[in-house]
Amino acid sequence: MVGPPPASWEIDSSAAVALAVEPGLWRLRLPLPWRHISHANAYAVEREDGRLVLFDCGGGGDPSCLAGLERALAQIGRGVADIAELVITHAHSDHLGTAASIAARADCTVWIHPARAHFEDVGADPAGVRTQRARGARRWGVPEELVDECADVGEELHGVDGAVRCDRALAAGTSIPSALGAWRAIATPGHAPSHVCLFQPERGVLIAGDLVGPIFAPSFDVGYTPDPVGEQLASLGAAAALRPRLALPGHGRPLTDPAAVFAAHTGGVAERLAAVKAALAGAALTPYETAVALFGRPEDPDERVWRLIETLAYLEHLAATGAAASTDDAVIRFRLT
Ligand SMILES: [Zn+2]
Ligand SMILES: [Zn+2]
Repeated sequence: MVGPPPASWEIDSSAAVALAVEPGLWRLRLPLPWRHISHANAYAVEREDGRLVLFDCGGGGDPSCLAGLERALAQIGRGVADIAELVITHAHSDHLGTAASIAARADCTVWIHPARAHFEDVGADPAGVRTQRARGARRWGVPEELVDECADVGEELHGVDGAVRCDRALAAGTSIPSALGAWRAIATPGHAPSHVCLFQPERGVLIAGDLVGPIFAPSFDVGYTPDPVGEQLASLGAAAALRPRLALPGHGRPLTDPAAVFAAHTGGVAERLAAVKAALAGAALTPYETAVALFGRPEDPDERVWRLIETLAYLEHLAATGAAASTDDAVIRFRLT
């Protein structure tokens, strides 16, 4: 749930590239059609038998997306049919968009964490989810002209090549072998309930998904767990405790000082929580009013929606930890306790 999707899911597949990260480990930089995110990363490693483990697979919703993945794989002498294991860090369209196409073309096992209702609910009942999101937005005090944008289900519905088959549950502790050693699944919810990182302990490499990135740009799937921000802070702590040497994010370049990035993201969340508390000092505010107090009224409707959802996640965290309480009439308002 990220607000209005792009008008078309077509990408410039000629811009897809494979970049060597380390021997036997490649970053596939796959273009995205979103205005604010230029690309998503997939990572490829070999298995002992020479076929591939692919972590994430980029956005979908248009044949150009699979063409982009094919182009990047061709640069390392491979094709989609070589994928033996498709490991999804979390159920967002930019990480599993081409999974249905890959599953139809390769003899592969698809691994995803079971908590993916946050994405798949839309496929089961698009109109119902849209209605529910619109109702939620009105309860958050969103002005009527922004309700449609908050209720949009286009990403889940159209940003993928089809319904994604899950062959194996990517539960915490699951181990996936590769020629570089086994990758262990670490549950890291917060950004999404289904979020998992994959850690290769001997090499100190973490496939980080959207847990962290080169810039601090937090986003949270609200509505499926009571406290996504609390989960995210715990996940940042869990990832930091692994002390990876290298973290490979879902967007942007490899992170060569992961400890500093985990600390910066944790500090960034703490700063925003403090800003929300300051906004609530002396006033009971709706989530929308709180978002305006924090971020103003951005021109860009996408940004207005994502700032609102981010703010709601901070308010839920303050309520979950007892720092704030809400009154719930037709519109929900938060105040400090
Ligand atoms: Zn994501
Ligand atoms: Zn992403």
